[in-house]
Amino acid sequence: MSLSTPILFVIAILVVALVMRILKSPEAPGRMAFALSAVASVWWIAMVVLRLNSVELSEKILFSRLAWFGMVATPLFWSAALLDHAGYSQLTRRVPIAIMLALSMIVGFAALTDGYHSWIYTGVLNEERPTFSHGWLFYAVLGTMYLCMLLACLLSISQLKRASRLHRRQMLALLVATCAPWVANAAFHLFGFRLFDDDPTPFAFSATVLAVLIAQQRGKLFIAPPIARDIIFSILPDPIVVLEPSGMVLETNPAAQKLPGFGVETVGTKLPPLHPLMAFVRRESRAGSGKPIVEFDAMGKVFEVSAQPLEHWGRKGNVMLVLRDVTEREAAQKSLSDAGEALKLRLEENLRLQEQLEQQAYHDHLTGLFNRRHGSTVIPPLISEASDEAPVSLIILDLDYFKQVNDRYGHDVGDKVLSAFAKILADGLQGPEMAFRYGGEEFLVVLPSTGRDRALGRCARWRSELASLTIAELKDARLSFSAGIALAPHAGTSLAECTKAADVALYRAKISGRNTDVVWGEHLGGIAPEGHTETGKTVERRARRGQARL
Ligand code: GH3
Ligand code: MG
Ligand code: MG
Repeated sequence: MSLSTPILFVIAILVVALVMRILKSPEAPGRMAFALSAVASVWWIAMVVLRLNSVELSEKILFSRLAWFGMVATPLFWSAALLDHAGYSQLTRRVPIAIMLALSMIVGFAALTDGYHSWIYTGVLNEERPTFSHGWLFYAVLGTMYLCMLLACLLSISQLKRASRLHRRQMLALLVATCAPWVANAAFHLFGFRLFDDDPTPFAFSATVLAVLIAQQRGKLFIAPPIARDIIFSILPDPIVVLEPSGMVLETNPAAQKLPGFGVETVGTKLPPLHPLMAFVRRESRAGSGKPIVEFDAMGKVFEVSAQPLEHWGRKGNVMLVLRDVTEREAAQKSLSDAGEALKLRLEENLRLQEQLEQQAYHDHLTGLFNRRHGSTVIPPLISEASDEAPVSLIILDLDYFKQVNDRYGHDVGDKVLSAFAKILADGLQGPEMAFRYGGEEFLVVLPSTGRDRALGRCARWRSELASLTIAELKDARLSFSAGIALAPHAGTSLAECTKAADVALYRAKISGRNTDVVWGEHLGGIAPEGHTETGKTVERRARRGQARL
């Protein structure tokens, strides 16, 4: 027992230091499982040391049996840790760890009670070391452990394919480092290599596990990339979902677990075929030209979905959906387009009002003809272009005895007459001809390229149309007008001159009995040209006083 005490003391210190270290160390993949594997291997080593320092066969057998607790736990946790590093983090959750612990305890208990059933040891071959002949449980456990470790290595190697460059190098280094137990075990069984005159495997396990833990502590490279990836995945506010073509959910991050139809337990379950995300699995939305938008009314959010096929990971049809919350953006866009729509409506309304204003500014509201103001803008250019070859006729028409129409039949009927006469004038217009409401019951018509005879002809047509106008209220009362015709450039070359001339001619028509047309200049009969310079009003006033000169 001389050597065992200091060795056990060192081992105990190592175990305590290891546990302390683990408690303080950062979260690294496989950290807890590697630590448990280290503790188990230290237990295994401790039992080997105690056995080596025992004299009695019964003691040696007892320590050999006790070593089984560590012999099972060490490779089990080692495999789990390796797989955790490769991304199979489910294996190092509480339940699998508890199952592995329970298995180790069961086998350990079976070893302790081996004296009753001999499932592990069937006999002692060498009392000194001691070495045993083995029962079925020994081979079963040994096979299982090798299988576990082999699986862990193979799965880790398969994961190298999808690892990024840096992570891949680390994984390779880890795999190489974890080869030590295999080498030690093979050296022991095939070449009889011994450490402290015994199996070097537990020492190799201990050494590699410690090496990995130290590497994780010191060389942050070992833990940073996978951890960073895990952290990014878990803290990313964008929901991420990995789906199989069948709708089976393979992976979700915490953000995705808040989506309707998702939860912590969704991984491993199938999404219903009508779930909005299924459209992206079926590629409907991915292939379409429409925006890849999905709306979850239940949570009042809108997401933009980017679908990433995972075929290059060797899983055809699988797709990773990354959802980006675009609720605010969509709402802003909607309010912008609403505002645009409202602005468009306002603009249209403004244009309509503007047109209405223009209409009102240029038109007479009762008859719909142009008003006098508009006439003062558009007539002068026509008159200024008049020539003897292409004279412009400017005609002022005044309804005869219109006051009587108002007095007898009412103002409304008077209005009807005005509108009807305006329509007669307007309907007869051709090309550049224009009609204006000049005053109360006075109208002005401009006929470019129209000489005396054609102007008189037009008046005659209007007169007959007015005479045959039927307005029920008027019964058989006959309507007529008198017209004064001025021919530019003969009567003048400005609007003022021409209207004055037409006014004079109109007055002449009135005093000559009404219902007739007078062309300016034809009935002047050598009268002084001052008549030309007199204003229409002066002429009218004088006419009222019975002083007509014409
Ligand atoms: P004359 O043959 O000499 O032209 O006789 P008159 O009655 O037509 O002429 P007068 O100038 O005496 O009367 C014009 C009338 O026209 C007076 C006015 O009440 C009427 N009048 C003017 N504007 C309107 C209108 O917009 N609607 C109606 N209903 N009557 C109007
Ligand atoms: Mg009048
Ligand atoms: Mg009149």
